[in-house]
Amino acid sequence: MNIHEYQGKQVLKQYGVAVPNGKVAYTVEEAVEAAKSLNSQVTVVKAQIHAGGRGKAGGVKVAKNLDEVRAYAEEILGKVLVTHQTGPEGKQVKRLLIEEGCDIRKEYYVGVVVDRATGCVVMMGSEEGGTEIEEVAAATPEKIFKEVVDPAVGLQVFQARRLAYAINIPKELVNKAAQFMMALYTAFVDKDCSIAEINPLVVTGDGNVMALDAKLNFDSNALFRHKDIQELRDLDEEDEKEIEASKYDLSYVALDGNIGCMVNGAGLAMATMDIIKHYGGDPANFLDVGGGATTEKVTEAFKIILSDKQVKGIFVNIFGGIMRCDVIAEGVVEAAKQLGLTRPLVVRLEGTNVDLGKKILAESGLNIVPADSMADGAQKIVSLVK
Ligand code: ADP
Ligand code: MG
Repeated sequence: MNIHEYQGKQVLKQYGVAVPNGKVAYTVEEAVEAAKSLNSQVTVVKAQIHAGGRGKAGGVKVAKNLDEVRAYAEEILGKVLVTHQTGPEGKQVKRLLIEEGCDIRKEYYVGVVVDRATGCVVMMGSEEGGTEIEEVAAATPEKIFKEVVDPAVGLQVFQARRLAYAINIPKELVNKAAQFMMALYTAFVDKDCSIAEINPLVVTGDGNVMALDAKLNFDSNALFRHKDIQELRDLDEEDEKEIEASKYDLSYVALDGNIGCMVNGAGLAMATMDIIKHYGGDPANFLDVGGGATTEKVTEAFKIILSDKQVKGIFVNIFGGIMRCDVIAEGVVEAAKQLGLTRPLVVRLEGTNVDLGKKILAESGLNIVPADSMADGAQKIVSLVK
Protein backbone atom coordinates (compact mmCIF):
# COMPACT_ATOMS: atom_id res chain seq x y z
CA MET A 1 0.00 0.00 0.00
CA ASN A 2 1.12 3.51 -0.87
CA ILE A 3 0.59 6.69 1.11
CA HIS A 4 1.06 10.38 0.36
CA GLU A 5 4.28 12.29 0.94
CA TYR A 6 2.83 14.34 3.81
CA GLN A 7 1.64 11.17 5.54
CA GLY A 8 5.02 9.52 5.00
CA LYS A 9 6.74 12.51 6.57
CA GLN A 10 4.45 12.29 9.61
CA VAL A 11 5.28 8.62 10.05
CA LEU A 12 9.01 9.26 9.68
CA LYS A 13 8.91 12.16 12.11
CA GLN A 14 7.71 9.79 14.84
CA TYR A 15 11.03 7.99 14.46
CA GLY A 16 13.14 11.11 14.59
CA VAL A 17 13.71 11.55 10.88
CA ALA A 18 14.05 15.29 10.27
CA VAL A 19 11.42 16.75 7.92
CA PRO A 20 10.36 20.35 7.21
CA ASN A 21 7.26 21.68 8.98
CA GLY A 22 4.21 21.33 6.82
CA LYS A 23 0.45 20.91 6.66
CA VAL A 24 -1.99 19.21 4.36
CA ALA A 25 -4.62 21.32 2.56
CA TYR A 26 -7.70 20.22 0.63
CA THR A 27 -8.76 23.69 -0.50
CA VAL A 28 -7.14 26.95 -1.55
CA GLU A 29 -8.29 28.61 1.69
CA GLU A 30 -6.77 25.83 3.76
CA ALA A 31 -3.56 26.22 1.81
CA VAL A 32 -3.36 29.94 2.58
CA GLU A 33 -4.21 29.32 6.26
CA ALA A 34 -1.53 26.65 6.45
CA ALA A 35 1.04 28.98 4.93
CA LYS A 36 0.07 31.72 7.42
CA SER A 37 0.56 29.42 10.37
CA LEU A 38 3.91 28.14 9.06
CA ASN A 39 5.02 31.74 8.80
CA SER A 40 8.22 31.01 6.90
CA GLN A 41 9.95 33.24 4.38
CA VAL A 42 9.52 30.79 1.58
CA THR A 43 6.67 28.29 1.32
CA VAL A 44 6.49 25.31 -0.98
CA VAL A 45 3.18 24.19 -2.49
CA LYS A 46 3.32 20.48 -3.32
CA ALA A 47 0.81 18.33 -5.16
CA GLN A 48 -0.02 15.14 -3.23
CA ILE A 49 -0.54 12.20 -5.54
CA HIS A 50 0.74 8.65 -5.32
CA ALA A 51 3.44 9.23 -7.91
CA GLY A 52 6.85 10.82 -8.15
CA GLY A 53 8.15 13.22 -10.76
CA ARG A 54 5.79 15.96 -9.57
CA GLY A 55 8.47 18.63 -9.63
CA LYS A 56 9.14 18.26 -13.35
CA ALA A 57 5.39 18.12 -14.09
CA GLY A 58 4.71 21.46 -12.37
CA GLY A 59 3.39 19.98 -9.13
CA VAL A 60 5.96 21.57 -6.80
CA LYS A 61 6.10 25.38 -6.60
CA VAL A 62 8.05 27.76 -4.43
CA ALA A 63 6.03 30.73 -3.16
CA LYS A 64 7.54 33.90 -1.70
CA ASN A 65 4.37 35.31 -0.16
CA LEU A 66 0.75 34.42 0.63
CA ASP A 67 -0.53 35.70 -2.72
CA GLU A 68 1.79 33.33 -4.50
CA VAL A 69 0.70 30.48 -2.23
CA ARG A 70 -2.90 31.23 -3.21
CA ALA A 71 -2.07 31.42 -6.89
CA TYR A 72 -0.13 28.16 -6.88
CA ALA A 73 -2.76 26.37 -4.81
CA GLU A 74 -5.42 27.48 -7.32
CA GLU A 75 -3.26 26.31 -10.16
CA ILE A 76 -2.37 22.89 -8.77
CA LEU A 77 -5.54 21.78 -6.95
CA GLY A 78 -7.77 19.90 -9.35
CA LYS A 79 -5.09 19.78 -12.01
CA VAL A 80 -4.31 16.47 -13.71
CA LEU A 81 -0.60 15.87 -13.31
CA VAL A 82 1.11 13.68 -15.85
CA THR A 83 4.46 12.41 -14.59
CA HIS A 84 6.68 9.52 -15.66
CA GLN A 85 5.00 7.44 -12.93
CA THR A 86 1.31 8.22 -13.54
CA GLY A 87 0.93 6.90 -17.07
CA PRO A 88 -0.42 9.11 -19.86
CA GLU A 89 -3.84 9.56 -18.21
CA GLY A 90 -2.23 11.34 -15.24
CA LYS A 91 -3.63 11.81 -11.75
CA GLN A 92 -5.86 14.55 -10.42
CA VAL A 93 -4.53 16.53 -7.46
CA LYS A 94 -6.95 16.64 -4.53
CA ARG A 95 -4.58 17.44 -1.70
CA LEU A 96 -1.64 19.77 -1.25
CA LEU A 97 1.25 19.79 1.15
CA ILE A 98 2.08 23.31 2.25
CA GLU A 99 5.61 23.19 3.54
CA GLU A 100 8.39 25.38 4.81
CA GLY A 101 10.83 26.24 2.09
CA CYS A 102 14.20 24.78 2.72
CA ASP A 103 17.60 26.31 1.98
CA ILE A 104 19.08 23.46 -0.01
CA ARG A 105 22.86 23.15 -0.10
CA LYS A 106 22.87 19.81 -1.88
CA GLU A 107 20.44 17.01 -2.72
CA TYR A 108 21.18 13.32 -2.12
CA TYR A 109 19.31 10.05 -2.46
CA VAL A 110 18.69 7.47 0.26
CA GLY A 111 16.41 4.49 -0.16
CA VAL A 112 15.62 1.36 1.82
CA VAL A 113 14.32 -1.70 -0.02
CA VAL A 114 14.00 -5.44 0.41
CA ASP A 115 16.66 -6.85 -1.89
CA ARG A 116 15.79 -10.13 -3.57
CA ALA A 117 19.36 -11.01 -4.47
CA THR A 118 20.64 -10.97 -0.88
CA GLY A 119 17.30 -11.67 0.77
CA CYS A 120 18.02 -8.75 3.08
CA VAL A 121 17.04 -5.18 3.63
CA VAL A 122 19.43 -2.93 1.73
CA MET A 123 20.04 0.77 2.25
CA MET A 124 21.14 2.57 -0.90
CA GLY A 125 22.59 6.02 -1.21
CA SER A 126 23.81 8.35 -3.91
CA GLU A 127 25.01 11.89 -4.22
CA GLU A 128 22.95 12.19 -7.38
CA GLY A 129 19.82 13.18 -5.48
CA GLY A 130 16.71 14.89 -6.76
CA THR A 131 16.89 13.20 -10.15
CA GLU A 132 15.35 9.88 -11.08
CA ILE A 133 17.40 7.22 -9.37
CA GLU A 134 16.56 4.76 -12.15
CA GLU A 135 18.49 7.00 -14.55
CA VAL A 136 21.47 7.16 -12.22
CA ALA A 137 21.38 3.37 -11.88
CA ALA A 138 21.34 2.94 -15.66
CA ALA A 139 23.91 5.57 -16.64
CA THR A 140 26.30 5.70 -13.67
CA PRO A 141 25.73 2.66 -11.44
CA GLU A 142 29.07 3.34 -9.71
CA LYS A 143 27.42 6.35 -8.07
CA ILE A 144 25.03 4.18 -6.08
CA PHE A 145 26.34 2.69 -2.83
CA LYS A 146 24.71 -0.10 -0.84
CA GLU A 147 24.76 -1.41 2.68
CA VAL A 148 23.27 -4.87 3.19
CA VAL A 149 21.63 -5.16 6.60
CA ASP A 150 21.95 -8.31 8.66
CA PRO A 151 18.41 -8.89 9.95
CA ALA A 152 19.66 -10.27 13.26
CA VAL A 153 21.39 -7.07 14.31
CA GLY A 154 19.81 -4.42 12.09
CA LEU A 155 21.58 -1.50 10.43
CA GLN A 156 24.78 -0.69 12.29
CA VAL A 157 25.99 2.85 12.90
CA PHE A 158 29.30 2.11 11.16
CA GLN A 159 27.35 1.09 8.05
CA ALA A 160 25.32 4.28 8.09
CA ARG A 161 28.51 6.32 8.50
CA ARG A 162 30.21 4.40 5.70
CA LEU A 163 27.27 5.13 3.41
CA ALA A 164 27.25 8.81 4.40
CA TYR A 165 30.97 9.06 3.59
CA ALA A 166 30.53 7.18 0.32
CA ILE A 167 27.95 9.66 -0.94
CA ASN A 168 30.12 12.61 0.10
CA ILE A 169 28.01 14.10 2.86
CA PRO A 170 30.10 16.97 4.27
CA LYS A 171 32.34 15.56 7.04
CA GLU A 172 30.87 17.68 9.81
CA LEU A 173 27.40 16.35 8.97
CA VAL A 174 28.21 12.67 8.68
CA ASN A 175 26.99 11.97 12.22
CA LYS A 176 23.69 13.72 11.56
CA ALA A 177 23.27 11.85 8.28
CA ALA A 178 24.05 8.54 10.01
CA GLN A 179 21.44 9.30 12.68
CA PHE A 180 18.98 10.10 9.92
CA MET A 181 19.67 6.74 8.25
CA MET A 182 19.34 4.81 11.52
CA ALA A 183 15.96 6.44 12.16
CA LEU A 184 14.83 5.74 8.60
CA TYR A 185 15.82 2.09 8.93
CA THR A 186 13.96 1.73 12.23
CA ALA A 187 10.82 3.21 10.69
CA PHE A 188 11.14 0.86 7.72
CA VAL A 189 11.35 -2.27 9.87
CA ASP A 190 8.89 -1.17 12.53
CA LYS A 191 6.14 -0.29 10.04
CA ASP A 192 6.77 -3.26 7.72
CA CYS A 193 7.62 -1.11 4.73
CA SER A 194 8.56 -2.56 1.38
CA ILE A 195 10.10 0.72 0.21
CA ALA A 196 11.21 3.85 2.04
CA GLU A 197 12.69 6.30 -0.41
CA ILE A 198 13.98 9.76 0.39
CA ASN A 199 14.70 11.65 -2.81
CA PRO A 200 15.98 14.18 -2.11
CA LEU A 201 17.58 13.98 1.27
CA VAL A 202 19.15 17.41 1.64
CA VAL A 203 21.92 19.10 3.47
CA THR A 204 20.73 22.61 4.32
CA GLY A 205 22.50 25.94 4.47
CA ASP A 206 22.26 25.97 8.27
CA GLY A 207 23.80 22.51 8.59
CA ASN A 208 20.86 20.17 8.87
CA VAL A 209 20.10 16.86 7.20
CA MET A 210 16.46 16.55 6.14
CA ALA A 211 13.99 14.55 4.07
CA LEU A 212 12.43 16.85 1.46
CA ASP A 213 10.47 14.03 -0.14
CA ALA A 214 9.25 10.74 1.30
CA LYS A 215 7.88 7.73 -0.47
CA LEU A 216 6.74 4.92 1.80
CA ASN A 217 5.29 1.68 0.57
CA PHE A 218 3.91 -0.94 2.95
CA ASP A 219 3.74 -4.70 2.72
CA SER A 220 -0.01 -5.44 2.39
CA ASN A 221 0.41 -8.76 4.17
CA ALA A 222 1.53 -6.96 7.32
CA LEU A 223 -1.07 -4.19 7.28
CA PHE A 224 -3.28 -6.04 9.74
CA ARG A 225 -0.88 -5.11 12.51
CA HIS A 226 -0.68 -1.43 11.61
CA LYS A 227 -4.10 0.12 12.11
CA ASP A 228 -2.56 3.59 12.03
CA ILE A 229 -1.12 2.95 8.56
CA GLN A 230 -4.34 1.40 7.25
CA GLU A 231 -6.09 4.66 8.08
CA LEU A 232 -3.78 6.48 5.70
CA ARG A 233 -5.11 4.59 2.69
CA ASP A 234 -6.46 6.94 0.02
CA LEU A 235 -8.96 5.08 -2.16
CA ASP A 236 -8.99 8.00 -4.63
CA GLU A 237 -5.51 6.94 -5.62
CA GLU A 238 -6.39 3.33 -6.34
CA ASP A 239 -8.03 1.65 -9.30
CA GLU A 240 -11.76 1.21 -8.54
CA LYS A 241 -11.78 -2.27 -10.01
CA GLU A 242 -8.85 -3.28 -7.83
CA ILE A 243 -10.63 -1.98 -4.72
CA GLU A 244 -13.76 -3.93 -5.65
CA ALA A 245 -11.70 -7.07 -6.28
CA SER A 246 -9.98 -6.82 -2.91
CA LYS A 247 -13.40 -6.93 -1.19
CA TYR A 248 -13.95 -10.38 -2.64
CA ASP A 249 -10.41 -11.53 -2.03
CA LEU A 250 -9.64 -11.63 -5.75
CA SER A 251 -6.14 -10.74 -6.90
CA TYR A 252 -6.77 -8.28 -9.70
CA VAL A 253 -4.43 -5.94 -11.52
CA ALA A 254 -5.74 -3.73 -14.31
CA LEU A 255 -3.70 -3.64 -17.54
CA ASP A 256 -3.96 -1.84 -20.87
CA GLY A 257 -5.19 -4.53 -23.28
CA ASN A 258 -8.65 -5.67 -24.39
CA ILE A 259 -8.83 -9.35 -23.43
CA GLY A 260 -10.25 -9.92 -19.97
CA CYS A 261 -8.73 -12.95 -18.23
CA MET A 262 -10.20 -15.04 -15.45
CA VAL A 263 -7.80 -17.62 -14.15
CA ASN A 264 -7.13 -19.57 -10.96
CA GLY A 265 -3.64 -19.51 -9.54
CA ALA A 266 -1.10 -16.74 -10.01
CA GLY A 267 1.22 -18.94 -12.07
CA LEU A 268 -1.50 -19.92 -14.49
CA ALA A 269 -2.65 -16.31 -14.67
CA MET A 270 0.86 -15.22 -15.69
CA ALA A 271 1.13 -18.04 -18.22
CA THR A 272 -2.27 -17.07 -19.64
CA MET A 273 -1.20 -13.49 -20.13
CA ASP A 274 1.99 -14.72 -21.81
CA ILE A 275 0.18 -16.97 -24.24
CA ILE A 276 -2.32 -14.25 -25.16
CA LYS A 277 0.65 -12.01 -25.94
CA HIS A 278 2.28 -14.83 -27.86
CA TYR A 279 -0.70 -15.04 -30.22
CA GLY A 280 -0.71 -11.29 -30.76
CA GLY A 281 -3.34 -10.24 -28.20
CA ASP A 282 -3.22 -7.93 -25.19
CA PRO A 283 -4.56 -8.88 -21.74
CA ALA A 284 -6.80 -6.30 -20.05
CA ASN A 285 -6.03 -7.59 -16.59
CA PHE A 286 -4.40 -10.11 -14.33
CA LEU A 287 -7.06 -11.89 -12.30
CA ASP A 288 -6.53 -14.79 -9.97
CA VAL A 289 -9.81 -16.03 -8.49
CA GLY A 290 -7.89 -18.25 -6.08
CA GLY A 291 -8.32 -21.83 -5.04
CA GLY A 292 -11.68 -21.87 -3.28
CA ALA A 293 -13.77 -19.78 -5.64
CA THR A 294 -17.54 -19.97 -5.29
CA THR A 295 -20.21 -19.15 -7.87
CA GLU A 296 -20.58 -15.76 -6.19
CA LYS A 297 -16.88 -15.04 -6.45
CA VAL A 298 -16.81 -15.98 -10.13
CA THR A 299 -19.80 -13.70 -10.75
CA GLU A 300 -18.07 -10.81 -9.00
CA ALA A 301 -14.93 -11.48 -11.00
CA PHE A 302 -16.96 -11.27 -14.20
CA LYS A 303 -18.58 -8.03 -13.12
CA ILE A 304 -15.18 -6.49 -12.46
CA ILE A 305 -13.81 -7.61 -15.81
CA LEU A 306 -16.89 -6.33 -17.65
CA SER A 307 -16.85 -2.96 -15.89
CA ASP A 308 -13.69 -2.31 -17.89
CA LYS A 309 -15.02 -0.74 -21.09
CA GLN A 310 -11.85 -1.68 -22.94
CA VAL A 311 -12.59 -5.38 -22.62
CA LYS A 312 -13.67 -6.78 -26.00
CA GLY A 313 -13.65 -10.45 -25.04
CA ILE A 314 -13.02 -12.75 -22.09
CA PHE A 315 -10.83 -15.80 -21.74
CA VAL A 316 -11.61 -18.08 -18.80
CA ASN A 317 -8.74 -20.47 -18.18
CA ILE A 318 -9.27 -22.71 -15.17
CA PHE A 319 -7.50 -25.72 -13.83
CA GLY A 320 -9.83 -27.54 -11.48
CA GLY A 321 -7.68 -28.96 -8.74
CA ILE A 322 -9.15 -27.89 -5.42
CA MET A 323 -11.66 -25.94 -7.46
CA ARG A 324 -14.17 -28.07 -9.34
CA CYS A 325 -14.83 -27.37 -13.01
CA ASP A 326 -18.60 -27.72 -12.57
CA VAL A 327 -18.61 -24.96 -9.94
CA ILE A 328 -16.68 -22.72 -12.28
CA ALA A 329 -19.00 -23.57 -15.16
CA GLU A 330 -22.04 -22.75 -13.04
CA GLY A 331 -20.46 -19.47 -12.01
CA VAL A 332 -19.67 -18.59 -15.60
CA VAL A 333 -23.22 -19.39 -16.76
CA GLU A 334 -24.78 -17.56 -13.82
CA ALA A 335 -22.65 -14.48 -14.37
CA ALA A 336 -23.19 -14.48 -18.13
CA LYS A 337 -26.97 -14.60 -17.59
CA GLN A 338 -27.03 -12.00 -14.83
CA LEU A 339 -24.88 -9.59 -16.73
CA GLY A 340 -26.39 -10.20 -20.16
CA LEU A 341 -22.97 -10.96 -21.56
CA THR A 342 -22.66 -9.99 -25.20
CA ARG A 343 -18.92 -9.91 -25.57
CA PRO A 344 -17.17 -13.08 -26.85
CA LEU A 345 -16.33 -15.61 -24.18
CA VAL A 346 -13.85 -18.45 -24.56
CA VAL A 347 -13.65 -21.04 -21.78
CA ARG A 348 -10.98 -23.63 -21.26
CA LEU A 349 -11.52 -26.03 -18.36
CA GLU A 350 -9.31 -28.86 -17.22
CA GLY A 351 -9.21 -31.04 -14.12
CA THR A 352 -11.75 -32.23 -11.54
CA ASN A 353 -15.26 -32.76 -12.96
CA VAL A 354 -14.21 -31.33 -16.30
CA ASP A 355 -16.82 -33.30 -18.29
CA LEU A 356 -19.64 -32.11 -16.09
CA GLY A 357 -18.32 -28.57 -16.39
CA LYS A 358 -18.22 -28.73 -20.17
CA LYS A 359 -21.72 -30.17 -20.21
CA ILE A 360 -23.07 -27.29 -18.12
CA LEU A 361 -21.50 -24.78 -20.51
CA ALA A 362 -22.76 -26.58 -23.62
CA GLU A 363 -26.32 -26.88 -22.32
CA SER A 364 -26.53 -23.31 -21.06
CA GLY A 365 -27.77 -22.03 -24.40
CA LEU A 366 -25.23 -19.23 -24.13
CA ASN A 367 -22.74 -18.31 -26.79
CA ILE A 368 -19.68 -19.75 -25.06
CA VAL A 369 -16.76 -20.92 -27.18
CA PRO A 370 -15.12 -23.99 -25.65
CA ALA A 371 -11.37 -24.51 -25.96
CA ASP A 372 -9.40 -27.74 -25.70
CA SER A 373 -6.12 -26.30 -24.50
CA MET A 374 -4.56 -23.04 -23.37
CA ALA A 375 -3.06 -22.44 -26.81
CA ASP A 376 -6.36 -23.20 -28.49
CA GLY A 377 -8.25 -20.87 -26.15
CA ALA A 378 -5.74 -18.05 -26.52
CA GLN A 379 -5.85 -18.26 -30.33
CA LYS A 380 -9.65 -18.28 -30.31
CA ILE A 381 -10.06 -15.23 -28.07
CA VAL A 382 -7.36 -13.29 -29.92
CA SER A 383 -9.12 -13.84 -33.25
CA LEU A 384 -12.56 -13.09 -31.75
CA VAL A 385 -11.56 -9.65 -30.45
CA LYS A 386 -9.88 -8.66 -33.69
P1 ADP B 1 8.99 14.76 -6.90
O1 ADP B 1 10.05 13.75 -6.56
O2 ADP B 1 7.65 14.16 -7.05
O3 ADP B 1 9.37 15.60 -8.09
P2 ADP B 1 9.91 16.26 -4.57
O4 ADP B 1 9.23 16.31 -3.27
O5 ADP B 1 11.16 15.46 -4.64
O6 ADP B 1 8.85 15.79 -5.67
O7 ADP B 1 10.22 17.76 -5.02
C1 ADP B 1 10.92 18.07 -6.21
C2 ADP B 1 12.00 19.10 -5.91
O8 ADP B 1 11.44 20.27 -5.35
C3 ADP B 1 13.02 18.63 -4.90
O9 ADP B 1 14.06 17.90 -5.50
C4 ADP B 1 13.51 19.92 -4.30
O10 ADP B 1 14.53 20.49 -5.10
C5 ADP B 1 12.30 20.83 -4.38
N1 ADP B 1 11.61 20.87 -3.06
C6 ADP B 1 10.70 20.01 -2.57
N2 ADP B 1 10.31 20.34 -1.32
C7 ADP B 1 10.98 21.47 -1.00
C8 ADP B 1 11.04 22.31 0.17
N3 ADP B 1 10.29 22.07 1.24
N4 ADP B 1 11.87 23.37 0.12
C9 ADP B 1 12.63 23.63 -0.96
N5 ADP B 1 12.63 22.89 -2.07
C10 ADP B 1 11.83 21.81 -2.11
MG1 MG C 1 11.31 13.36 -5.08
